[in-house]
Amino acid sequence: MAPLPTWPPALTDAQQADLAFQSATYALANGFTLLPVPPKGERVPDIPTQVIAAPLSLLPTPFPRPAYVQAKSIQRLYNALYARVALDWEFLDGIMEQVAPVDDFQAELWNRWKAIRDEIKVTQPIQLGIFRSDYLLHEHGNYVGDKAHIKQVEFNTIAASFGALSQKASEMHRYLSEQTNYFHAHAQLNNPNAFVDNHSLEEISAGLAEGFNAYGNCDAVVLFVVQEGERNVFDQRALEYQLLKRHQIQVVRLTFAQIAQRGKLDDDKMFWLDNPLGKDALEVAVVYYRAAYTPADYTTSAEWDTRVLLERATAIKCPSMALQLAGAKKVQQVLAAPGVLEDMLLARARPDVGFGAGPGSLGQPDAAALRDTWTGLWPLDSSEQGQKALQLAREHPERFVLKPQREGGGNNIYRENIPPYLAHLEEEDKARPGTAPRREAYILMELIEPPTGLHNLLVRGGEGKPRLADVVSELGVYGVALFGGDVAPVNREAGTLLRTKGRESDEGGVAIGISSIDSPLLV
Ligand code: ADP
Ligand code: MG
Repeated sequence: MAPLPTWPPALTDAQQADLAFQSATYALANGFTLLPVPPKGERVPDIPTQVIAAPLSLLPTPFPRPAYVQAKSIQRLYNALYARVALDWEFLDGIMEQVAPVDDFQAELWNRWKAIRDEIKVTQPIQLGIFRSDYLLHEHGNYVGDKAHIKQVEFNTIAASFGALSQKASEMHRYLSEQTNYFHAHAQLNNPNAFVDNHSLEEISAGLAEGFNAYGNCDAVVLFVVQEGERNVFDQRALEYQLLKRHQIQVVRLTFAQIAQRGKLDDDKMFWLDNPLGKDALEVAVVYYRAAYTPADYTTSAEWDTRVLLERATAIKCPSMALQLAGAKKVQQVLAAPGVLEDMLLARARPDVGFGAGPGSLGQPDAAALRDTWTGLWPLDSSEQGQKALQLAREHPERFVLKPQREGGGNNIYRENIPPYLAHLEEEDKARPGTAPRREAYILMELIEPPTGLHNLLVRGGEGKPRLADVVSELGVYGVALFGGDVAPVNREAGTLLRTKGRESDEGGVAIGISSIDSPLLV
């Protein structure tokens, strides 16, 4: 593995300004965009009239080719693993029994699922997963690329976003190379093979189309369940355009509130949407969630009721409630405990989820390949492991991040903030005698240490002007899995995402303006 180059190469102010112009106009012209943050006190308008370029990097960021290849090559194993977890009720129950008493959101999801799972197993056993496995490069010591390898941050099973914008970022960097030759600033920037051929937009929409085809009614529609006030609409719209253009599939996008008004389950458990444009009602074939992953999406029990109604329908859910539960960070931690992954992957008789001929076809090397991408993960419960973890967290907080069972960014507790936070949880416990300690809702994870010394020119959404930042890049690999019932299984890797953020920020949300959507320059 070659060492990572010093980055970015020297560019004059005029060259940077030209790249800033080229990238901003390319982004605006090609839907590499977000809606702007609305003025204070206002909402995102129903009919938008303005867009901003998505946060971007002027140059692709160097990334070791072997690590990129490795991340892509194990995606099908991850797809198979999480499909198995979703099919394993006993395993999920065992984990949720521990999480539910200390996490109301997970408890609600689990309890609502338990109440209907026997029914839905008959109504619609097929499940669709559009996943994204996220990694950071990990390296001991400082900036020497030949030692870097990937470590998994988390595995997303619901609303894995940026597939469309990511493909556009790859295309933009390739365009900039062709258009400007990047002023011959670095040989790799003029090497077409160093740029990735990333088709995440096409791959993800093809996955939705595969779900649609498995449902088997070409007159039905795909329902996108979206958040009110969503700014990342173009990432979603691009999937919709692709579904229509390439697959002749229509999409209806609605919030939970709109579905509650317009949707109903008929006696055969088919889900129908009133068509306010006066035509016949629309039958839903696939429910694709780009919402429903955070407590804020369920302001009252009405949203939960709508979720359950959709879950009970014959429509194929992406993801099912079971798959959403499988994506809990607690599941990631439990899988990492000695023997658990091996049992899930190798020992248990599981239906074929499209990886080889059946359970027997997965071997010890597969389990080892997955474990190789994991870093230290601990429970914070009363087990021996949990006690040890608690001690570690108190004595060496600088090595850890504390994570609750949440998605969507901004929820983790880092480093020296951990001990006071644990103390605060203990205070809360005193007010609830006889219940499990609140820290059990969290997992403790070892911090991954990305290579240092890499910089890039980042442009914040809507700003236009690049700033030089010391950067950390997070690689995401998308996966598509269609499984359950007697469906012909689908298990594919589905493209990649590179998000690059300033090193000073622990979290990396693109929508909250910290991360840029980038693409890897393979070295
Ligand atoms: P979320 O579900 O909110 O996206 P993540 O587990 O992805 O939660 O954590 C959010 C961010 O925190 C990641 O994108 C990454 O930048 C950082 N992070 C999470 N876990 C680690 C870790 N073990 N080491 C270093 N950074 C981490
Ligand atoms: Mg994340």
